[in-house]
Amino acid sequence: MKSLLIKGGRIIDPGQKLDEVGSLLISGGKVSWVGRGKETPPESDCDVLDAHGLIVCPGFIDLHCHLRQPGFEEKETIASGTMAAARGGFTTVGCMPNTEPPLDNRKTVEFVKATAASEGAVRVLPIGCVSKGRRGRELADMGGLATVGVIGFSDDGDPVPTPELMHRALEYSRSANLPIIDHCEDKALSGGGQMNEGAVSAELGLKGIPDAAEENIVARDLELAETTGGWVHIAHATTEGVVELIRRAKEKGIRVTAEATPHHLTLTEERVRGLNTNAKVNPPLRTERDARALTQGLNDNTIDIIATDHAPHTGADKSQPFELAPFGISGFETAFGSLMGLVHRGELELATLIAKLTIGPSKILGQKYGLGTLAVGSTADVTVFDPDLEWTVDIKDFASKGKNTPLAGEKLKGKVMATIYGGNIVYKDESIK
Ligand SMILES: [Zn+2]
Ligand SMILES: [Zn+2]
Repeated sequence: MKSLLIKGGRIIDPGQKLDEVGSLLISGGKVSWVGRGKETPPESDCDVLDAHGLIVCPGFIDLHCHLRQPGFEEKETIASGTMAAARGGFTTVGCMPNTEPPLDNRKTVEFVKATAASEGAVRVLPIGCVSKGRRGRELADMGGLATVGVIGFSDDGDPVPTPELMHRALEYSRSANLPIIDHCEDKALSGGGQMNEGAVSAELGLKGIPDAAEENIVARDLELAETTGGWVHIAHATTEGVVELIRRAKEKGIRVTAEATPHHLTLTEERVRGLNTNAKVNPPLRTERDARALTQGLNDNTIDIIATDHAPHTGADKSQPFELAPFGISGFETAFGSLMGLVHRGELELATLIAKLTIGPSKILGQKYGLGTLAVGSTADVTVFDPDLEWTVDIKDFASKGKNTPLAGEKLKGKVMATIYGGNIVYKDESIK
């Protein structure tokens, strides 16, 4: 395979505190040389990707998505989902185990890994179930799942329902050194809720999901993490109260990491007006105040990473009446453009945004895959983007089978221009030479 020279871009690699114009040489699937300014590369016979005026950074890592295969191939497949990920600048994705059958056994995890290896556009790291069959009664074979390389455990889509089960899962997480990723939702409070509970839900006559539904379970999990010494990862944090709970837990030294999604960072419950089912997501879009608290959480490291919770559904799924439509947003292909809005508005530094998509998640993976950095010798996963390019979200362009986005037709500023996975260009905008 010929070497690839990514020439003349602004290289930003927060893991190395690097921010310089230069070039990057990729050979044998690894970063082999980083040259500053106009330094000439050690090889001349290589393919060239011209990155002048663009930003070059480590490939994005998304530790929370739904690829739907096996079982729900009409919504997404590993092939279509990873292609959508590549278009969004993601070179590694952690996929949730709420498939059919669920990833509660080694065989199904092996199937996902094999399918990803043969049909996937980018790296897929499966997450195993906490409980057998996702039923919330007894622990799955977590030890067995760990031997086939799951990166954590989750019953996402649902919470770990009882403190007893969470307690045992956290005890196991300590010995395995893998996180229990909880979808924090107190079903006794959220039951039948359709959107955030507040003025808008009252106006629309929809049953609300109160902040407390999320905060109760986060508080429970933090307490159990403290008593067990286990590692809890809070999936899709959405409320100001949750951010504050995590902040205090971190101050106390509790082993907790947390993620926020692009939609909770950039959209609010106002999007549900007009009963737009594409804005129906769980946990629900909250208020402006909550979104700001999440951004503040990114800035002070209360929130460790950004994860998409890419949740594709079919057109038929989302054409149902609001009460019947499933929760979820197809997020891979709009994530970066919408997040750049935070940078353009001065709410988030560009380097912080990149860190939350690269070195942040790599640290949660224990940096064992050599990802999230462009240091010489690391895996050549690279994302090239234009921070200022304005573009319109056109769902016809989506590689994802899920066209369910509340951003259809909207202008975003900031676009992924090329994605390089293991040294191969897996996505390139037409305008790139
Ligand atoms: Zn969830
Ligand atoms: Zn999810």
